Parts: sequence; C-alpha cells; structure tokens
Amino acid sequence: MAVGLDNLYKEVILDHYRNPRNRAEIRDVDRHADGNNPLCGDKVAVDLVLDGNTVSQIAIKGQGCSISQASASLMSEAIKGKTFEEIARLRQLFTTMMTSEDPIVDPERPGAILGELEALAGVKAFPVRIKCASLPWATLDVAISGTADQVTTD
Ligand code: ZN
Repeated sequence: MAVGLDNLYKEVILDHYRNPRNRAEIRDVDRHADGNNPLCGDKVAVDLVLDGNTVSQIAIKGQGCSISQASASLMSEAIKGKTFEEIARLRQLFTTMMTSEDPIVDPERPGAILGELEALAGVKAFPVRIKCASLPWATLDVAISGTADQVTTD
C-alpha cells in the first residue's frame, strides 16, 4: 500500500513538472509577484486575475527543480476559482502537511484532505526541499496581499 502510494505521488509530481498547468499568458493581470529560492535556484512568478476576493484566473511562470515547479502547477490547480479565505485555509493545511509531526494526510484515503497537493507530502522527509515546495505558496501570498511584488525564501 505505502509503496504504491509513493509511486502514485511520484507520478503526480512528474506529470505536473513535465506538463505544468496554467502556464498560459493572461491579460489584464490584477496582481503579480515573483518568488525566488536562492538555496536551490528556483523561481516562480504568479499572475492573478481577481473577481472581488476570488482568484478567477492564475498564470504561473518559473524555472527550477521538479519539486518547485510541480508544486506551483499543483497550487495553481488547487486555488483557481477559490476565495482568499479558502486559499488561506488551503495554505494552512499545506504548511501543516509540510512541517508538522502529525500527518494530516490519511494514507487510507489519499487525496481526501488536500487532493493532488498531497503528492508533495513526501517532501517533508527532505527538509532542504520544503522551501522548494513552499515557494509558490509564499509567492501567492505576496501576490494576494498586494504588499510587495517579490519574495525570497531564506
Ligand atoms: Zn528547488
């Protein structure tokens, strides 16, 4: 069971790395932010079109390791059409999944809590890569808050 799940997670990550979602240019962008993870050389840019407090469109650009780029793609799918509140809740769950001792992901019910984002749960075992997985979320946070247009993990 566990081995099968690991393989499934790897397949999801590779699929999102090779075929990243939401890479198309969008026009009339409301918010933009650039994220940088100098530790690994990852870059993620987030463009948002807002409808009130809902992210109606998202476009991702970037380059870097498979974890950072797959995470950006997975995040873009997870948050599209969601309100800021729903996104904040997702980000909180994602951060818990990546950092907490308590596994919030139920191996008996894969995807039940965070959908495809759970594919990144295994990254927790590699602390240096957590920043790769978190970079898109940190960048999204800055884009949504509108307080800056750049974020660097350190
Ligand atoms: Zn990386």
